[in-house]
Amino acid sequence: MSKITIDPNKCKGCELCVKACPEQILAMGKQLNVKGYFYAQVAEQPRCIGCRICCIVCPDVAIEMAVQGTMYKYFDY
Ligand code: SF4
Ligand code: SF4
Repeated sequence: MSKITIDPNKCKGCELCVKACPEQILAMGKQLNVKGYFYAQVAEQPRCIGCRICCIVCPDVAIEMAVQGTMYKYFDY
C-alpha cells in the first residue's frame, strides 16, 4: 500500500497536485506554513492508488511516496 507524505514547508500552495490527482484525495489545508502559504494535505490516504502523478507534478518536490515502507524520491534538487 502506498503512503503519500507532503512536506508542509516545501509547499508553495500552487494546487497543481490537488488538480492532478485522479482520485481527488488531496486538498488545500487551512493552516499556513513557514513561508505563509496554505499547503496541500492528503485528505483520504486510503483511497490513494499509487499513481505518483502528484509526486511528479509538484514543482517544489514537496511530495514523496512510500510503498510498503520504501520511500521513493523522484527528484533531488
Ligand atoms: S499517488 Fe496518485 S492517487 Fe495517490 S495522492 Fe498522488 S495523485 Fe492522488
Ligand atoms: S504541487 Fe507541490 S507546491 Fe503545489 S500545492 Fe501541491 S505540494 Fe504544494
